[in-house]
Amino acid sequence: MPPANTYSSCLQRLSEAGLLRTIADRNCPQGRTIRRGETQMLNFASNDYLGLAAGDVIIEEANRAMTEFGFGAGASRLLSGGCALHGELEGKVAAFKGTEAALVFNSGYTANVSAIPALATKEGAIFSDELNHASIVDGCRLSGAQRYVYRHGSLSHLAELLQASPVTLKLVITESVFSMDGDLADIGGIFDLCKAHNALLYIDDAHATGVLAEGRGSLAYFNIPPDDNIIQMGTFSKALGSMGGFIAASGTIIEYLVNRARGLIYSTALPAPVIAASLAAVNHVQSNPDVVTTLQANIANCKRLLLLRGIHVHDAPTAIVPIYVETVADALRISGQLSARGIYAPAIRPPTVKQPRIRISLSALHSDEDIEHLSASLAEVVGCP
Ligand SMILES: *Cc1c(COP(=O)(O)O)cnc(C)c1O
Repeated sequence: MPPANTYSSCLQRLSEAGLLRTIADRNCPQGRTIRRGETQMLNFASNDYLGLAAGDVIIEEANRAMTEFGFGAGASRLLSGGCALHGELEGKVAAFKGTEAALVFNSGYTANVSAIPALATKEGAIFSDELNHASIVDGCRLSGAQRYVYRHGSLSHLAELLQASPVTLKLVITESVFSMDGDLADIGGIFDLCKAHNALLYIDDAHATGVLAEGRGSLAYFNIPPDDNIIQMGTFSKALGSMGGFIAASGTIIEYLVNRARGLIYSTALPAPVIAASLAAVNHVQSNPDVVTTLQANIANCKRLLLLRGIHVHDAPTAIVPIYVETVADALRISGQLSARGIYAPAIRPPTVKQPRIRISLSALHSDEDIEHLSASLAEVVGCP
C-alpha cells in the first residue's frame, strides 16, 4: 500500500467513529464570548480563566515591550535571546511560588518534555498518575527512566510501586488540578509518600496557577511550604492569559535545568512582548486578588446551580467542570444542542479522554446570567429531571 493510503484510511476510520478532529480558528478575540462563523456564543471552552488574554492589562505591557525590545528574540537564552524582562519574570514567578528560583520555557508542553527527562535521567524511576497530561507522558517517554503509572489518585498504589522500586532517584509526577476532570490531587498525601521514599515531587500546576489560593497554586492551597524536593511546573497560557511555561524550584535544580533541559538550550527564547504579557498578568493577579475571588464565586455558583438541577459535578474549587456522558454521539449531540442555545462547550472525546464528556471551563468574565443560562440549558439537553 502506498504510504499516503495509510494516512487516508486512518482518517477514514476516525471519521466513521465520530473522532475526526478539525481546526476551528476564529476571526475575533476570545473572552466571555466567542464568534463561531457568524454566530456570537457564550464561551465556556477557554482556559483563560481570569479573562486576561484579550484585556488591556496584557495588551498595554506587550505593546510597550515590543516598542522597547522588538519582537523576535533572535536566539536561545544561553546566547543572546533573553532580555531583562525574562529574568524579571523568573524572579516574579519564584516569589509568587515561594521558591528560590524559576525558569521560563516556551510553553507548558516544552517545560514538561524538557524538565522531566532532565530530572529523571536514565538511571531514575518515574511514578506518574494515569491521568497525567500528554506533555507529562511525553516527557516520561523521552526520559529513558523506568516508568510506573499509578491508578488515578491512588496513594496506596503509588506507595506499593515506590516500595517495590530499588532505584535511588525517584520522581513522582502529578497534576494538581487534572485538566480533563477538574479534580484535585491529594498533594499533601503524595508529598508524605515522597518523603517516606526519598522521592522528588513534580507538580503540574497548569490549571491551579491563577485559580487556587489567590492564584498562587496548589501548594499554597494545601498549606504546604515550598521544599527543595518539590518542583512546581506551571504555564502562563491558561489563567495568566499569555504564553509560556515555567519551573519553580530550588536554585540548584534551576541551574541544573539551565544546563540540561533541551527545550531551553535548543530553542529560541520567547519574544519580549510575550514575556511582558506574562509579567503583567502575574503582577495583576498579585495586586488584584479580587479577580481570582470573582472566578471562585462563578465556580461555586455554577456548581450550585447544576447540582440544584440534578446534574452531578465534583466539589473541587477548580474552573473545569466535566459533564460525563455515555457515548461520543451523546457528547456531540449535547454540544450541538448547547450551540443552538448560544453556548460554546465542545465535546471532549477519545483519545484525549476515555469517557466522552462536555468540558465546561469557567471564567471570571462570566456573569450570573451567563451561568444561569448554561445550567438551565444543560438541564434541558442532558435530560435530567
Ligand atoms: C495545557 C497543559 C500543559 C501545556 O501547557 P501549554 O502552555 O499550553 O503548552 C501542560 N500540562 C497540563 C496539565 C496542561 O493542561
